[in-house]
Amino acid sequence: MARDLQGVRAAITGASAGIGAATAAELAARGCDLVLGARRFERLDALRADIHRAHPDAKVEIHPLDVADAAQCEAFARAAGPVGILVNNAGLARGTDKVVDGHEHEWREMIETNVMGLLRITRLFLPGMIERRGGTVVNVGSVAGLEPYPGGAVYCATKASVRSITKALRHELLGTGVRVCNVEPGAVQTEFSEVRFRGDAARAEKVYQGFQPLLPEDVAEAIGFLVSRPAHVDVEELVLYPTAQASTMAFHKTA
Ligand code: NAP
Repeated sequence: MARDLQGVRAAITGASAGIGAATAAELAARGCDLVLGARRFERLDALRADIHRAHPDAKVEIHPLDVADAAQCEAFARAAGPVGILVNNAGLARGTDKVVDGHEHEWREMIETNVMGLLRITRLFLPGMIERRGGTVVNVGSVAGLEPYPGGAVYCATKASVRSITKALRHELLGTGVRVCNVEPGAVQTEFSEVRFRGDAARAEKVYQGFQPLLPEDVAEAIGFLVSRPAHVDVEELVLYPTAQASTMAFHKTA
């Protein structure tokens, strides 16, 4: 039976767009109090207004957060205080170059955000959860972590790391009552590809043409499902594909 999330405090990183923003809306609808972080504060402000229109009583705190900046992570965790749910969603891919043509600054950006950022934030929130003997950490991984593809070596490696970190944490947290989940979506229509192509909207648009990709709300709903499981259930890994995608490289496209 689903757990009542009314009043449960949930921190979400990368909440200014896409899956993070949709997850904020989903958890607000389920009664959670929200603590949202991202670098684009004005986007968080607009999201907070949207959530308040739909749920006038929702409690929504917003904070500037760059997960690649240790001091900002510490400030975010301090401001958030004790939370029952942490969604490690902040992440990005940069470029589609093969390793032979790769750029070190892009590799660093992905590793700093997707791996180091997730580790930093998790380390800050875990002690409180362990002390309170409960809490749910949701890591947003990717099918890229299951199946590497050409032009995505480093992004795929970061998401494989998220998978390994999730599994190691499950072992480390055994007996603490804290659960850890890894949600691994296939193609989701968000700003992800525009960020990957550095603002080239036309190129990004093509990624999602000819098939129905997942919507950020589909992933948010899945996250809502797994954080609302009874305390004895840990959905360790949840792989979510569009029906028209069977692997990172296999799509059924009609155009
Ligand atoms: P998106 O629309 O581009 O959203 C990415 C979010 O991450 C934004 O809110 C962005 O906020 C935030 N972010 C990026 N770097 C950050 C940083 N250094 N510090 C704090 N926040 C940061 O893309 P999305 O698809 O929703 O991506 C969300 C997660 O899903 C990522 O981890 C991504 O790898 C994963 N994912 C996406 C797909 C897909 O096909 N879209 C598939 C599988 C997994 P600011 O720019 O405002 O900081």
